[in-house]
Order: sequence, then C-alpha cells, then structure tokens
Amino acid sequence: MPQGRPPISAQLKRDLLVEAGHRCAIPTCRAAEPLEFEHIDDWAKVKKHEFANMIVLCRNCHGRKGSRPGQIDRKALMQYKANLAVVNGRYGELELRILDAVARKPLQTEFVLPAYMGLMVSYLIKDGLLRRHETMQDYKVRTEGIFALDLSVAQWYEITEKGIDFIERWKSARPLD
Ligand SMILES: [Zn+2]
Repeated sequence: MPQGRPPISAQLKRDLLVEAGHRCAIPTCRAAEPLEFEHIDDWAKVKKHEFANMIVLCRNCHGRKGSRPGQIDRKALMQYKANLAVVNGRYGELELRILDAVARKPLQTEFVLPAYMGLMVSYLIKDGLLRRHETMQDYKVRTEGIFALDLSVAQWYEITEKGIDFIERWKSARPLD
C-alpha cells in the first residue's frame, strides 16, 4: 500500500460489492472472483475513497483498464457505474423516474415535490446528482399546473451538472445490459 493511502472502509467495500451484485461490474464478464476495488479517476488524482468514483472489477478486467484503444477506459467505467446504479436498485422508483424524465426532456431539470417525499430522493442527493434548494423563495410559480401547489410544504430540487453527466452516461450505457 502506498504511503498515506488509508484503507478502504469495510462499509464502503460492502456498498460497492452490493452495487455490483458481488461480481465484476463489466456486464459481459460478471466474474465472481477475485474482486478488486478500482478508482475510476485514479487515486493519485482524487486522493480519497469515494463511492461515486469507485467500482468493483475482477482482477482480469482490472488489468485491462487503461486509455489505449481496446482497453477499459475511464469513460467506459463511468458508463458501467451508471448502469449498475440503475439496474441494481441503488435508486428508488421516484429517483428512477426523475432520471428518466430528464433523460427524455433534458431541459426539464427542476422538480417540485411535497416535503414528505425528501427521503425518496435521498440517494440522488447523497450521490450529488440532485440538489435541494434551501427555500422556495426564488421558485417561479408556473401557472400551467393543474393543482395549486402549497409552497409551504413543497421542496424544490434541481438536477446538478454531475446529475446531467450521469444521465448522459446512463443513456449511452443502456444498450450494455
Ligand atoms: Zn471482469
């Protein structure tokens, strides 16, 4: 282990293994062992172990990682990662619908939801794909809605740049599964 590099926590390893279904994340491989924890953006660059930047690969696929033609590059790993999150149930029904809605209508990146639904989008928020505006103050009320919205119990969400990037990768990864 290189100096100054802390071990990956047991919880993070577990989260990554669960995300990948305890198999290599490459859909055409899915080897069950030996599994390794790979940083999508290299450790040397990011200097931290973070769920969003890590993926489980078998030793064979890990060895094929690189930026030369035919190797598994960073962009491909990000596509595989996006695919895993969606197919293996990290995100709930509402979160998938939000991702899908933005995939279909890329300009519609804002959502207003009842406050009690906050928990249902908590993983998108945790992963930095969605952010919640602190107040409704600057929200421009759109008049075309059928229901009058009680702004005192509403929360305003917006897909982040990272979220848009995720959706792009997810869309391009869809044919993989
Ligand atoms: Zn593999």
